[in-house]
Amino acid sequence: MKIYLNIWKQANAKAKGKFEKYELDGVDAEMSFLEMLDSLNERLIKEGKEPVAFEHDCHEAICGCCSLYINGHPHGPDNETATCQVHMRVFKDGDTITIEPWRSKGFPVLKDLIVDRNAFDKIMAAGGFVSIDAGQAPDANANLVGKIAADKAFDAAACIGCGACVAACKNSSAMLFVAAKVSQLALLPQGKVEAKRRALNMIAKMDELGFGSCTNTGACAVACPKGISIEHIATLNREYLSASFSEAE
Ligand code: SF4
Repeated sequence: MKIYLNIWKQANAKAKGKFEKYELDGVDAEMSFLEMLDSLNERLIKEGKEPVAFEHDCHEAICGCCSLYINGHPHGPDNETATCQVHMRVFKDGDTITIEPWRSKGFPVLKDLIVDRNAFDKIMAAGGFVSIDAGQAPDANANLVGKIAADKAFDAAACIGCGACVAACKNSSAMLFVAAKVSQLALLPQGKVEAKRRALNMIAKMDELGFGSCTNTGACAVACPKGISIEHIATLNREYLSASFSEAE
């Protein structure tokens, strides 16, 4: 099939970007979205033109770096799907596809479709870890965790740090990301030791880095490729409130 592409091009973080139009013929419906971009780039390179810069790595919805806005939807039109899992069969011959990078103050554009998600690493460094000795794998069997808490922690741990929640939020809030990381650790015994500091420090870092506030629209959870529930934001709020009261005492 033939498709028409409208792709954001931006030379570097300081340059003014704009959309460029491309036509691509011979697109196979079974190609992945990233293979389609590869095929466009192969042609551009053969023509001596500059390829479109985009980021990808695992192609298994694990690394979170293939994040793109596709026709106004973070990660494209399918639910609970990362960009690398989108296939060209969801488009029709003759379709125009608009591709943009994440738009957020917290994620500056580095080049074309690549944004700097280093802010998430900084939030993680502020508290998204345990610093106690959690032991070896067999020791996990000695720490009994209730089924409900274990399942919830496991669901929260599915967050791949892609940033779609921020991109989808009208306030550019990173609350769903922070909630997933805080919830995952707060539900497990190993994470309880630092639970109070973690919520306060991660939220403070999120604010400092320019992410907005949460107004509970739920757009983040709809855009999330891993189905992270907005319920984790409630857990984060409880952790934050209880930590704030303890600090005040
Ligand atoms: S919560 Fe979902 S959308 Fe946000 S970073 Fe994690 S996986 Fe991506």
